[in-house]
Amino acid sequence: MPHLMNNYSRLSVAFTHGQGSHLFDEQGKRYLDALAGIAVNTLGHNHPRLVKALSDQVARLIHVSNIYRVREQEALSDRLATLSGMDEVFFCNSGCEANEAAIKLARLYGHRKGIEAPAIVVMEQAFHGRTLATLSATGNRKVQAGFEPLVAGFVRVPFDNLAAIETVAAHNTNVVAVLIEPIQGEGGINVAHQDYLRGLRRICDQKGWLLMVDEVQCGIARTGQWFAHQHAGIRPDVMTLAKGLGSGVPIGACLAAGPAKDVFGPGNHGSTFGGNPLACAAALTTLEVIEQDGLMSRAAALGNSIRSGLRQALKGVPGIADIRGDGLMIGIELDRPCGDLVQRALDAGLLINVTVDRVIRLLPPLTFSDDDAALLVSMLSGLIGEFLTTKS
Ligand SMILES: *Cc1c(COP(=O)(O)O)cnc(C)c1O
Repeated sequence: MPHLMNNYSRLSVAFTHGQGSHLFDEQGKRYLDALAGIAVNTLGHNHPRLVKALSDQVARLIHVSNIYRVREQEALSDRLATLSGMDEVFFCNSGCEANEAAIKLARLYGHRKGIEAPAIVVMEQAFHGRTLATLSATGNRKVQAGFEPLVAGFVRVPFDNLAAIETVAAHNTNVVAVLIEPIQGEGGINVAHQDYLRGLRRICDQKGWLLMVDEVQCGIARTGQWFAHQHAGIRPDVMTLAKGLGSGVPIGACLAAGPAKDVFGPGNHGSTFGGNPLACAAALTTLEVIEQDGLMSRAAALGNSIRSGLRQALKGVPGIADIRGDGLMIGIELDRPCGDLVQRALDAGLLINVTVDRVIRLLPPLTFSDDDAALLVSMLSGLIGEFLTTKS
């Protein structure tokens, strides 16, 4: 046995290489990748332009300290600011770190306003990471159990429910921010209504709260906008990114605008690896390929065609509770636990995920072809149909 901590329940397969939408295992078996490392491999596997950009960057410069100027980081911050309308960016290496930065920023913002014990409103079923602060912000007891005492300063409300926010606004005087995933990923592909997000924006403006969106999973063109909150036509005060930003090279970002701008000063926050030239080159290339190859509008169209294909293929099959999502962030909810489907799909040569026990989650790369999508629909509808009829 390898000397690894036992903190994952892993499937037994090991992959040797990938090409486009496919992965290959040690026996040479090919798999259609409809998960992309959980929304990470934005450009699929072995994308020629990413490989070239990374090879060039490795040969030039991999890492320098943030005590110096880093041109690649400056260029990426400009690019992200243009795409998002945000003002400034802090770079780190993962989603939980991006959210840690957001939480620290909100607390500092609160203290500057004279609030001694600042609180952040968070959602039921939310997922924000596994560091102490971010697991405390997460709305899933399984993630928290055994790690108490939790970090204080979070107020939990039901997702997509404006009345609950209004109640907090009426009674709670130490709130400084709201942290929300515009589309909950781990929580089961739950899409917040656009009216709700606009309502949140209005309440945050009225109360002087920061609106902080966690786009670690739903961001980077996956839903047909660069960032999922843009569907609602709002600008947040803080946005966090990670997963798909570097197409597999670790990078996270915390962006700030408006009242959240200029909150951090020298010494308030930092990261050794954050924003290194290699990670920034990966992100710059990812954004460039998405733009030049029109992958954002493709994600919207492809997502719609996968959802409608699944609806058609599964029409009348009892046990399908809902098929939902936005763009290439797709959830198929069954009326029963379906974790077994992950292994069955693997055996059939298809990589998928199941979250909250009964939601099949699809997060294919943005480079998915029409043929990949058609194959996904036929394989998955067959597997679901078989699962629902043989085991009830
Ligand atoms: C995955 C995820 C995180 C945590 O990201 P890590 O890189 O694993 O720390 C945070 N928020 C959301 C919405 C995520 O999907």
